[in-house]
Amino acid sequence: MFARAPGEGVPLRVIGCDTEVVSTFEAVHEPLPARDVLLGRTTHVRRVLPNKTRRMIGAWCFLDHYGPDDIKSTGGMWVPPHPHTGLQTVTWLFEGLGLHTDTLGSRRLIRPGQLNVMTAGHGIAHAEVSPPEAPSVLHGLQLWVCLPDGVRDATRPDFTHLAELPTFSDGGVTARVLVGSLGGVTSPAPSYTPLVGAELRVAHGAEALLPLDPTFEYGVLVVSGTALVDGVRVETNAMSYLGGGRRELPVGGLAEDPEEEVVVMLLGGEPFEEEIVMWWNFIGRSHEEIVEQRSDWNGTGVDFVPERFGVVAGFDGDRLLAPPMPTTRLRPRARSL
Ligand code: MN
Repeated sequence: MFARAPGEGVPLRVIGCDTEVVSTFEAVHEPLPARDVLLGRTTHVRRVLPNKTRRMIGAWCFLDHYGPDDIKSTGGMWVPPHPHTGLQTVTWLFEGLGLHTDTLGSRRLIRPGQLNVMTAGHGIAHAEVSPPEAPSVLHGLQLWVCLPDGVRDATRPDFTHLAELPTFSDGGVTARVLVGSLGGVTSPAPSYTPLVGAELRVAHGAEALLPLDPTFEYGVLVVSGTALVDGVRVETNAMSYLGGGRRELPVGGLAEDPEEEVVVMLLGGEPFEEEIVMWWNFIGRSHEEIVEQRSDWNGTGVDFVPERFGVVAGFDGDRLLAPPMPTTRLRPRARSL
């Protein structure tokens, strides 16, 4: 832990527990260890969010990092139709090719450098697979953004594909802005809370100062190479929570091969203060809501049509049913311990 003084003039936000007061609004370096999770039969992912101590960074509430995998041995991505509520899914590839289909009738290939953002609102369902023409290597991220309470049921389900994203370059770092604004450029991706997500490509030996918003909290995930983030080495596949109160962030790169770029994901946002219930592919605010969402998807009988979510047309296979509810009640949880 490399704790520093909070940024000048920035209000110290205090999260109060009965006995303990934890300030989360200062600049820190806090490793967020990834958990290995088996998806399907052969695909392993590194789950970084939610983490034990930090469940969210801004409204970012879920982060799976997968690959680089040889899809000849893993079988590639095969995620049959499944529902979402109360969140946006954000798909980002470093290598490979993906095919997205959903209950709005969307059918879209996604390539590295392109963005898929699906807004569930009250309910949507989608499938994500590696199409037959996919190259052998697959490497990417699956992220979720939590929708605020006033928005989640009021917003229509939406799918947005962005073939190109705004970028800026400074001091050997090229940033591609997926969501929100960074360095004066703004992504057209729909978002409902103050948020940023960007891919940074850092030349070997470069050192740049990224302008940050001191009211945001941030985290970095190193996707390839080693990054120097505010002077701290962050290795490949490691995530570091950076806290808030920062107006700028020094980012440098140490690639094994000087020809290669170091790739870093920067995630940030205004701390999300609502307590949420995240279970399976749903986000609600109470146990009862999740029970209802589950039964709206699973239904009963072979002829059941999940009206709330719709049907993913053209998918060759069965939809994914939700597992049984846990025997204990689901409790709303705050963004950090
Ligand atoms: Mn999904």
